[in-house]
Amino acid sequence: MKEKIQEKFRTLFGEEGELFASAGRVNLIGEHTDYNGGYVFPGAIDKGIIAAIKPNGGDKVKAYSLDYDEYVEFGLEEEDKPSQAWACYIFGVCRETIKRGGKVKGFNTVFAGDVPLGAGLSSSAALESTYAFALNYIFENGIDKFELAKIGQSTEHNYCGVKCGIMDQFASVFGKEGSLIRLNCKTLEYKYFPFKPEGYKLVLIDSCVKHELASSAYNKRRASCENAAAAIRKNHPEVEFLSDAKRVWLEEVREEIPEEDFLRAEYVIGEVQRVLDVCDALERGDYETVGEMMYQTHFGLSKLYEVSCEELDFLNKLARKMDVTGSRVMGGGFGGCTINLVKDELYDTFVNAAKEQFTAKFGHAPKVYDVVISDGARKL
Ligand code: ADP
Ligand code: MG
Repeated sequence: MKEKIQEKFRTLFGEEGELFASAGRVNLIGEHTDYNGGYVFPGAIDKGIIAAIKPNGGDKVKAYSLDYDEYVEFGLEEEDKPSQAWACYIFGVCRETIKRGGKVKGFNTVFAGDVPLGAGLSSSAALESTYAFALNYIFENGIDKFELAKIGQSTEHNYCGVKCGIMDQFASVFGKEGSLIRLNCKTLEYKYFPFKPEGYKLVLIDSCVKHELASSAYNKRRASCENAAAAIRKNHPEVEFLSDAKRVWLEEVREEIPEEDFLRAEYVIGEVQRVLDVCDALERGDYETVGEMMYQTHFGLSKLYEVSCEELDFLNKLARKMDVTGSRVMGGGFGGCTINLVKDELYDTFVNAAKEQFTAKFGHAPKVYDVVISDGARKL
């Protein structure tokens, strides 16, 4: 990929650029915890974006996407927003850097990537953090890494119409080979934990479905969580977010809140604890416990939080039946991928069975993505 990028760069601009890269991400555990002030536990993956960049001495960005085979030029003022979606990410990163007092001048760039688009691996964060990191480096702005992640997040908010949290860009900027990062979504404190599952593989099975319910259901789940937190807060004023609550405190208000809100809250409080348990297990190298927690998360998301769907439950059940170490739906739910921790010797049998049986039942094949926890934003 690097060679193809430089070759195109030479053809278009008559020289070579400096190479930068960043990555997509997975979240091992910690789902629907972010807006409840809890933990998420993501890591960067071995699929990402690579970009060649060089300042061009002018005030225009000249950008070429290898994957779309499209060339776009745009200026750096607010009114220069390009019409191509992919170029808006680069434009947004430029604008958000400038808004933070950073210098950005015209540059030439060619880029390509291998994160599947829209599969829940955050190809958009990979793109944003590649450019946030690269511009900071090239123009020597000295912006810290957390702010680089926020540049990506604000790009989504202000230039791409996606009101996302910070997790994807955070993982993409801070990702480190062989490490997952536990991020406290309330305080933004983070800590690296070793993730070197020797003898296991991480594999995503993409159901390739996206059910319509997702956004209205999401708002309802948030409302339930806030409602439960408010009820608990009456007895325990220190509860700012639901993640601050203890399980027994939730029991105290069981009769006061709708059963549905109780179940949602039960999931969230359990999930926050599971992230901590997984971190402990990783420090011991105990991947069997990690896997068991993943199954518990899936159960919670399916039966208590009710954001799974037939396709994902099918994949999860199959994993359990075949003695896969861990499996759960990853992401907001109602479609997308399951993330699976599979012993090496079981990998082929499981993946083939998942493809065959899923296709037989649902009439279309799932996609399979192997992932290895890898470095995030960097200069090559
Ligand atoms: P995801 O869940 O993968 O982040 P998004 O819809 O948020 O899905 O982002 C996908 C968009 O990001 C694409 O439509 C495209 O505009 C941009 N993008 C991601 N990867 C590439 C790439 N390799 N080349 C060009 N654009 C890309
Ligand atoms: Mg995205």
